[in-house]
Amino acid sequence: MLPYATASDAEAALRRAMTRAEAAWFRYTAAKADCYLYYHTVAVLLAVYTLLPLMLALLELGAPAVALRYKLQPRGARLSPAGFLRCYTDTARFLLPLAAPVQLLSYPAVKMLGIRMGLPLPSAGEMAAQLLMYLLVEDYLSYWAHRLMHTKWCYDNIHHVHHEYTAPNGFVAPYMHWTEVLILTVPTVVGPVIAPCHMITFGIWFVIVAISAIETHCGYNFPFNPTKLIPFWGGAEFHDYHHYLGGNCQSNFATVFTYCDYLYGTNNAFRRHKAGQAKLKMVSEKNVEK
Ligand SMILES: [Zn+2]
Ligand SMILES: [Zn+2]
Repeated sequence: MLPYATASDAEAALRRAMTRAEAAWFRYTAAKADCYLYYHTVAVLLAVYTLLPLMLALLELGAPAVALRYKLQPRGARLSPAGFLRCYTDTARFLLPLAAPVQLLSYPAVKMLGIRMGLPLPSAGEMAAQLLMYLLVEDYLSYWAHRLMHTKWCYDNIHHVHHEYTAPNGFVAPYMHWTEVLILTVPTVVGPVIAPCHMITFGIWFVIVAISAIETHCGYNFPFNPTKLIPFWGGAEFHDYHHYLGGNCQSNFATVFTYCDYLYGTNNAFRRHKAGQAKLKMVSEKNVEK
């Protein structure tokens, strides 16, 4: 809840006129409790984790000829409508009983971190710098968390749930043991702990994490995907190979950028796989020419 009775009070405190975004934020939040604003995050994430994978599932079910052209594992077991629904409801069964108490209990921690809800709103530059830093920190820590998940005990007791799908789809992104959800939350919040931000940036950050996870698990390699322009962006092809290899996989641990796998030599199998694919393509093109 903002500590101003009127917009004029807010502008007096800011010593300037509010921007359009600030005026909109003032109108929406002035009479709402801070915890209520924070609880928006879980509703937005639920919508993102439902709607984006649903669009991809509908593409696969409604236009299989188009979808299969870009499918990374076209010969993999294709899910029926009931299969997609089961994947979604199984994920919800794991996550919803966890998400509600975590949201309720984490609010005091979010306040302690210094996540602010009021005015002024952050500038675009401040938001971009914070989000980039969060992404780099999260990516590096997630790489090591994922490697930890592939040690025998962690895999057998926790991470095997996420690997039940060897040909992932968007709904698989949050399909994991509840312990893994808690473990992977740590890399996600380290950035905001180091550099606390505004609630809007905090919410956008969680949405970016969700979209990136869905893209990584979507099972498609769309040539027009703009993330292909980002250096070292792993994307779906990189992580799909990790699922394809299954439980014994010791390759492609990166969740966003691939540089850690290059640095620590955990992408050798993938590089051999890509070289083999390129060779096969060359041979088949030569045969067509003959
Ligand atoms: Zn894994
Ligand atoms: Zn995965």
